[in-house]
Amino acid sequence: MMLTPVHRFRDIERKPEYLQPEKCVPPPSRASLGTMWFIRDGCGIACAVVTWMLVFYADFVVLLVMLVPSRDYVYSVINGTLFNTLAFLALASHFRAMLTDPGAVPKGNATKEFIESLQLKPGQVVYKCPKCCSIKPDRAHHCSVCKRCIRKMDHHCPWVNNCVGENNQKYFVLFTMYIALISLHALIMVGFHFLYCFEEDWTKCSSFSPPTTVILLILLCFEALLFLIFTSVMFGTQVHSICTDETILMLSPDCDELCGRHTSANSPTQTRLDFLKERVALS
Ligand SMILES: [Zn+2]
Ligand SMILES: [Zn+2]
Repeated sequence: MMLTPVHRFRDIERKPEYLQPEKCVPPPSRASLGTMWFIRDGCGIACAVVTWMLVFYADFVVLLVMLVPSRDYVYSVINGTLFNTLAFLALASHFRAMLTDPGAVPKGNATKEFIESLQLKPGQVVYKCPKCCSIKPDRAHHCSVCKRCIRKMDHHCPWVNNCVGENNQKYFVLFTMYIALISLHALIMVGFHFLYCFEEDWTKCSSFSPPTTVILLILLCFEALLFLIFTSVMFGTQVHSICTDETILMLSPDCDELCGRHTSANSPTQTRLDFLKERVALS
């Protein structure tokens, strides 16, 4: 449906029933908007809690199984300080990645009044999200978990219970880096501790019984190896996407439609979309 004979709207799913700006509810007033960003998704909250528990488990084993029983005081203090500093930074990054608005486009701004206020020229095309009734800036994508369009959305990460987008990608990159570092650090310490226990009496190298010590160390080893691989790959992918100014979504063959990206360099709408992006960012 056309708002006026000269204005065209494109819908990402090409369903005519969505192309009705008068159906959009006007965006809530600024006064009613909360300042805290938090996604109420059960699966995401569970994954975020598991992430914190895994870090606390690693800290427990590093401190109480390996470092406190160690007779080398300097080794324990240096490694304990380093591990806890990195773990604290990892959790702080996780906290910021989870509670930072990733770049949500104002919901429901595709109203008739807003579109008319843009004073579009004949033949100009704007993208409207049919799900959250917002005018989509270039490279924005709708997230079905967050139920919002997110600017420069990379992906929705359940481990941080949030989308990774324009505003919180730096915290996500730091989070993956710190997790990779503490995983590597834990693996090195486990290696040294096994060597120490083999040389010494197993009953003296830990305050726990030998079977419990072995089980705790193997579980930590497994956890650290898994997360070292996972976060290293994710960190490399994120750094690459930042360097090339691309997102994981842009690698999708459907991205031209999903991301609102224009393949033609001479697209007459490009300037207008840039303007729209700024316009939405300001609102
Ligand atoms: Zn949307
Ligand atoms: Zn999301």
